Amino acid sequence: MARRPVVTIDGPAGAGKSTVSRTVAERLGFTYLDTGALYRAVALAAGDDAALAERIDAAPTTLELAGEIERRLAALALSLPLAFSDRGTRLAIGDRDVSAAIRSPEISQRASKISALPAVRAALLDQQRRIGAAGGVVAEGRDTGSVVFPDAEVKIFLTADVSERARRRAAELRARGIAAQDAAVQREIESRDARDAAREAAPLACPEGALVLDSSALPVDAVVGLVLDAVTTRQRS
Ligand code: C5P
Repeated sequence: MARRPVVTIDGPAGAGKSTVSRTVAERLGFTYLDTGALYRAVALAAGDDAALAERIDAAPTTLELAGEIERRLAALALSLPLAFSDRGTRLAIGDRDVSAAIRSPEISQRASKISALPAVRAALLDQQRRIGAAGGVVAEGRDTGSVVFPDAEVKIFLTADVSERARRRAAELRARGIAAQDAAVQREIESRDARDAAREAAPLACPEGALVLDSSALPVDAVVGLVLDAVTTRQRS
């Protein structure tokens, strides 16, 4: 195989994509590309304009955001000096480290809303493709196998029961000192999943040819092992 592979890991919120992708990237010595962090950073930066953030947060559907707000957000996405560091686990906007700030439930919802806007997705596409252009990358998100890297050598769709995903995500938030209850987190996840799957632009869906892994009853190590097996098999073919 000429270039090192591109591995894509897509799936709904809380399926374990981040932990699995980060670990797989580390084991392979590949770059880790957290595409969701880019949408989250745009959502966070939109908060610098309180009136804009309020309009986004109050919009009952993303239809209300199409047009002028969409254009402003796309311009914002293009103008942000986004830079990953620490093996792709930290993200900065210029010299402001936003790694923790982008993880709040408020930003999760706002990121989900703005990511439904085609112009915002287009604005972030080049950046993602540039990072993966030379291969040797593990990209995680919702459309990395379908839209960003349709020619990826290995595509994974990682999912799990919604109650299990909520339980894990709530525990993760609590570990970071953010108050979170399983039931509330489950509602938040369900609303995000529904929006991510229903949107017209690059909806959350299992890409063609992807290996589907259900992590409901599988520990992280087992999922990592299955992904590494898929990479090895592909490299031998
Ligand atoms: O993966 P994460 O939970 O950080 O993503 C935050 C939000 O960004 C998702 O709910 C989704 O709406 C959006 N997203 C996306 N496409 C991606 C990655 C994330 O639309 N490739």
